[in-house]
Amino acid sequence: MPSERGLSQPPGPEWETVCRVCGYDDGVEPFWETGRPNEGAICPCCGNEPSMSDVSVMGLRNLRGYWLGQGACWDSPSSRPKDWDILEQVKRIPAEWR
Ligand SMILES: [Zn+2]
Repeated sequence: MPSERGLSQPPGPEWETVCRVCGYDDGVEPFWETGRPNEGAICPCCGNEPSMSDVSVMGLRNLRGYWLGQGACWDSPSSRPKDWDILEQVKRIPAEWR
């Protein structure tokens, strides 16, 4: 059955399609649903897989700092937009996870 939830249910506070680590957002696949990590939804950008350990801002900062320190490599390089702008992307990290 094709998924239509992305269209019928716009993202809300309980529906996060933004990666808490790097700010990547495809607007479709949620990393978090109703406060639970969508396990298996690996971020194509930073490679983070949401888990219950991602509820700590300090933990997220560690992950983000490590990712940036390694050169902010894409986990899935083929998903990287040609005009990718890391600064534009990190601006989309929700304020509470910065
Ligand atoms: Zn990410």
